[in-house]
Amino acid sequence: MKKNEKKQVVMSGIRPTGILHLGSYFGALQNYVRMQEEYECYFMVADLHSLTTHPDTKSLRANVLDVISEYLACGLDPDKAALYCQSAVPETSELYLFLNTLAYKGELEKTTTFKDKARLQPQNVNAALLTYPTLMAADILLHRALYVPVGKDQEQHLEMARNFANRFNHRYGEIFPEPIAFNFGEALVKVPSLDGTGKMSKSENQNATLYLSDDDALIRKKVMKAKTDEGPKTPNAPKPDYIENIFQLLSLVSDKEVCQKFEADYNQCTIRYGELKKHLAEDMIRFITPIREKAKTIRDDENFMKGVLEKGADKARESAKKTMQLVREAIGIKYF
Ligand code: ADP
Repeated sequence: MKKNEKKQVVMSGIRPTGILHLGSYFGALQNYVRMQEEYECYFMVADLHSLTTHPDTKSLRANVLDVISEYLACGLDPDKAALYCQSAVPETSELYLFLNTLAYKGELEKTTTFKDKARLQPQNVNAALLTYPTLMAADILLHRALYVPVGKDQEQHLEMARNFANRFNHRYGEIFPEPIAFNFGEALVKVPSLDGTGKMSKSENQNATLYLSDDDALIRKKVMKAKTDEGPKTPNAPKPDYIENIFQLLSLVSDKEVCQKFEADYNQCTIRYGELKKHLAEDMIRFITPIREKAKTIRDDENFMKGVLEKGADKARESAKKTMQLVREAIGIKYF
């Protein structure tokens, strides 16, 4: 990059709805850490988003601090990236309102995550649940971000954010870039759950999800329980989904040679799943333990975390204020 050339802007976030897991790491955090070296980065904890599912707000503070400590333990640096809490930037809510005038009921109702949530909590299908994609678009567009590091599950939301940006630009003038889901040119990641159904997730499927806070014994227990069968009967057989998932998890944390050995064993029908799972468990432990220990040390230093959040919020608000000035002028609601 040439001197004085403006860095591209990056924005992403994670809801404080539970402890982060392997999916959060490989779908999002790993890229956050790489991107902070090259781009102007805004990474937040999406506490406003979490309100859509009516959590017990008494644990909100602890959950926000947990996520921030895990951000830091995974390698995010408050001197490089703005690390902040969504609610500390009230401009988010203002942009959310403007974007809501450009979002239509039909498209919001068709969103997969809305349909899933409405099925899970039929007694609480509130308006903010429906407009979740507009709030997410506001988070991103508030910094006029171009790149959004997310997992595959967020692809549809990103497409909607592009639509909202486009509609705004058409109606009021070119303010926003069209944000794109980013994974360094690779396909977006989906980390499968250990039971072969769906993805690892903070709030669902807890026994089949490996959390960054799981201790060694729990990791072993969860991995050893992963579903397998008697093994393939013919050479080079296609893998059932639940076996494919185990291989995918192995490829995330184990050396290439180990993956190749088990692939070859599978293809020659000599695979022993007990051995494969033991290897996976030990490599998982090697991967998760340093993050868990570091997060704990950071989490215990609340003063340090307060400083990180304040610094991040200042930086995020500065950027948000600039954007909102442009937005208000473009819409024509600046009267003096
Ligand atoms: P969760 O679904 O666990 O509550 P969030 O919705 O807060 O997680 O998502 C935080 C980030 O982590 C998003 O970028 C999302 O795409 C990513 N992510 C979450 N789960 C997975 C997964 N199993 N595989 C890949 N990425 C994931």
